[in-house]
Amino acid sequence: MIAKSLMTYARRKWRLYSFFILSSLIAASCSHPRVVVVDQEPVAVDAPHLMRGPVIVIDAGHGGKDLGTNSKTLHYEEKALTLETAFMLEHYLQKMGYRTVLTRSEDVFIPLSKRAGIANDLRSRLFVSMHYNSAPSKDASGIEVFYYLSDTNKKRTIESKNLGDHVLREVTGATGAKSRGVKHGDFAVIRETKMPAILVESGFLTNPEERQRILQRPYMQKLARGVAKGVDDYLKRAK
Ligand SMILES: [Zn+2]
Repeated sequence: MIAKSLMTYARRKWRLYSFFILSSLIAASCSHPRVVVVDQEPVAVDAPHLMRGPVIVIDAGHGGKDLGTNSKTLHYEEKALTLETAFMLEHYLQKMGYRTVLTRSEDVFIPLSKRAGIANDLRSRLFVSMHYNSAPSKDASGIEVFYYLSDTNKKRTIESKNLGDHVLREVTGATGAKSRGVKHGDFAVIRETKMPAILVESGFLTNPEERQRILQRPYMQKLARGVAKGVDDYLKRAK
């Protein structure tokens, strides 16, 4: 499993390097319009000046043997929904001109420390982990964003909270979901990363109405676009 995840990482790294080379060649050979091929999918770049900009690591929560919140009778697994959302988020961020790296792009188990390690090794600008929520009560609903409160790195704490504020505002605006706030959370992926990092709990799969919305592709697209817009807003203000 670890060997496989390392291969995924190596493949991703290679894709990133190829992407750098490809975008430099395109920049050198033509002025406009730009269409860059990433993962066999052509992406029309709306903001070419950002193509050498920050790298954003997108983490699809869970994977492989770790299903996340799930129900056999209701036919859902969090790990599949987070991956689908991560691909959409990647798409929207690339359309905005950002470089992206996924911690996983298939259904594999990757230890939490490895996920943080990928972002740290790449020295990525931001880390965004995507999850869906569950609760004993079916009534619980809405979106919440977590950041890590560190006593030793106050700057990262402030930046992470600020990123979380932008993302929550945009994602609740885009989906109409209830805002549950930006909160401190002691989760390994946001604790062990060295750059501003957030974990987005994108809605409750245990709430029947919210689950129905999440399982519909247009809603998930709005959600992913909202997260991308929040990231973009944060980075534009953080310059
Ligand atoms: Zn989760």
